[in-house]
Amino acid sequence: MAGFRRIVIKVGSSLLVDRATGLRREWLAALCSDIAALHDQGADILVVSSGAIAMGRGVLGFRRPALELEEAQAAAAVGQIALARVWAEGLAAHRITAAQVLLTLGDTEERRRYLNARATIGTLLDHRAVPVINENDTVATNEIRYGDNDRLAARVGSMASADCVVLLSDIDGLYTAPPRDDPAAEFVPVVPRITARIEAMAGGAASELSRGGMTTKIEAAKIATAGGAALLIANGTRLHPLRAVAEGARCTWFLSPSTPVTARKRWIAGTLEPRGILHVDAGAGRAIRAGKSLLPAGVIRVDGAFARGDCVIVRGADGGELARGLVAYDAGDAVKIAGRASCDIAAILGYSGRKEIIHRDDLVLSGDGAGADGDMP
Ligand code: GLU
Repeated sequence: MAGFRRIVIKVGSSLLVDRATGLRREWLAALCSDIAALHDQGADILVVSSGAIAMGRGVLGFRRPALELEEAQAAAAVGQIALARVWAEGLAAHRITAAQVLLTLGDTEERRRYLNARATIGTLLDHRAVPVINENDTVATNEIRYGDNDRLAARVGSMASADCVVLLSDIDGLYTAPPRDDPAAEFVPVVPRITARIEAMAGGAASELSRGGMTTKIEAAKIATAGGAALLIANGTRLHPLRAVAEGARCTWFLSPSTPVTARKRWIAGTLEPRGILHVDAGAGRAIRAGKSLLPAGVIRVDGAFARGDCVIVRGADGGELARGLVAYDAGDAVKIAGRASCDIAAILGYSGRKEIIHRDDLVLSGDGAGADGDMP
């Protein structure tokens, strides 16, 4: 795992919380030391932690295995406080700052909220904090919730341009059939591509405290690999589960055909209706062709009624299309900062935005990549 730059680690409820004895403190401390080791090597780490409902239900006296939605939401409200505290303390023991981020489906699926969540997570990672993420179970209702943290972790991975998503679970990976039902099931260490045959290997099973069975893990793997990240399913029940993987413990790798940046660029090149045009001067044109970001200073004219995050076309001095990219400002603000130095943006707009009008990670040179359909990585 040492080669990865940005890693999402998903922790299931049944790993963190024992039904009889509560929080598994020793286990969590060991995981935090594994996380600290990766963090010390320079990797950005995001934790997606379940366990809010599991930690809160007993406090409210909910003993039945299946809770009503309102009960689960109330349990999550109680448990999330405790969950955030144990992560903050566990990571603080390694001088790592934890940051709680609670997301709902809309935060990853609606453009504006997606960009906001992405920017905040990016800032936290730039400051070496570890976002500890969960679904905002207390406000999410059935129709608008993920309901499982496997897919949430994969989506967060694409949103944060992670190159690896680790699902720590109570099984060590994918088998050709659910091993509980079929003793002849064989272990599958590497999945180069998710085919119908791979999907058929998953059974529906999920344990009582958590929701995600193998089916949702494969769904998560589809999301992660489309976004350019490898996804790893590993047994988290042992102490030091990440160290164990590094030392060769059995696990299943789902490989991605691309990297987060290429996946994102392919999406930009292929699936968007451009909403506007930025006309740029010759200097900016050269900079873009050399792989640099587009700064407002190089923009001569702005056309169209686009919003921040929309795809726009970049045209050169001769009118030819140079590139397409996701613009960092609404059209009105873009007009105001066009031709101006980035250091003046705050004074002109009254807030400090990005210094690039299109960041190079969000910019695709025309003729540079084949189009593809799919979710925005
Ligand atoms: N968000 C839920 C919780 O924290 C768990 C969802 C899951 O287990 O995947 O309790």
